[in-house]
Amino acid sequence: MGDGPAVEVPQGRIEAHETLGETRCEKQRLYKREYMRRWRASLGRQTSERARRRSAYYARKERELLADASPVCDPDGAALCGYCGIRRAVEDVARLEISADAPDGYVKVRIPYCGHC
Ligand SMILES: [Zn+2]
Repeated sequence: MGDGPAVEVPQGRIEAHETLGETRCEKQRLYKREYMRRWRASLGRQTSERARRRSAYYARKERELLADASPVCDPDGAALCGYCGIRRAVEDVARLEISADAPDGYVKVRIPYCGHC
């Protein structure tokens, strides 16, 4: 393989080619931006997004309730991981939890952790 291009192209043609590519990219970027604006502004999409978020919120609440119902200790009495609930916890990790009562809106909680999740 040689160091230079296989075919000699005059410098002016390369610059024109780059400018055309940049113009095409800019047009494509503007088109995509306007498309996404229209897509986000669509009432049908906003309604479906609201429904999706509401459903995800209730699904998360249900998961949290079920997780609370799961045992936190194995039959030998050792603490289980707070994330997977399967393996034994080997350490506690700190996590911020949203709280309306806290002055900065977050409370630090310690969660048993297995080291794998
Ligand atoms: Zn785990």
